[in-house]
Amino acid sequence: MLSSPLPALHDKEGDKIPSSFPFVVDTHVHIFPDGIFKAIWKWFDQYGWPIRYCLNSREILDFLLSRGIDHIIAFQYSHKKGIARDLNKYMVEICSKYPGQVTGMATVFPGEPEAAGILKDAFESGLKGVKLHAHVQCFDMNSDQMDIIYKVCTANGKPIVMHVGKEPKSPAYNCDPYLLCSAGKLENVIKKYPDLKVCVPHLGINEIEPYQQLIKKYDNLWLDTAMALANYFTDMNPPRLDAMRIDRIMYGSDFPNIPYAWDRELKLIDRANLTEKTLELIMGKNAVDFFLIE
Ligand SMILES: [Zn+2]
Repeated sequence: MLSSPLPALHDKEGDKIPSSFPFVVDTHVHIFPDGIFKAIWKWFDQYGWPIRYCLNSREILDFLLSRGIDHIIAFQYSHKKGIARDLNKYMVEICSKYPGQVTGMATVFPGEPEAAGILKDAFESGLKGVKLHAHVQCFDMNSDQMDIIYKVCTANGKPIVMHVGKEPKSPAYNCDPYLLCSAGKLENVIKKYPDLKVCVPHLGINEIEPYQQLIKKYDNLWLDTAMALANYFTDMNPPRLDAMRIDRIMYGSDFPNIPYAWDRELKLIDRANLTEKTLELIMGKNAVDFFLIE
């Protein structure tokens, strides 16, 4: 569990991505309307870690694109019923300002009335998948309300990104991620829906090893690297990137909700001496396949 609040790291930041990098997709970036962002930062300050980049949605996207990120996958999540439609509209509007550069994901609150309709409309309006967060939305991934969401995604050929790792657990959540989340429950989902593409963020922290086994065994599961490579959480020790199934790992930053330099993990990846092919897959190609980036 987090011993919150965790520290800010005042590490130096660069002004460009490493020059050796190929096409780079950041598959894990958060944007929100201003009011919600302020509430999230306050929450993080109190229970998580200090957010280093308190920028608004446009500033976030401009920041990363101007530093050499080629494409961004943007997320939101609704923390209660009844706000997903507005958030999805907001996402569509922001993405329209960045044609070809930003792919927007939809949100929905599992179990809310009209969940299927909300998602169908979101996909029709141009959003390319859905992002969910079990700690904030308190859903059980093996529940009937989640089946509704998996079915709409499968029927529309859209991927789902869901934070269903147990960490970072916090007493401030309304549910216990250790009860709701496990790699075993996620395995039930990918077995039951072999045509559904699923991404679990943060390499599945803190079940990194079970998730490494799952990506070897199933072709419909991907993992993103967000915050898992940064050496920030002291008890996490991920394997080398090239020891993983390299066609199922996607780079993501969790920008702007990070306590360290925006390029901290990029520099670590740069120093890992990966082959050109591995780098190409992890930094961009896998994301193009997963999110069907045009
Ligand atoms: Zn995130």
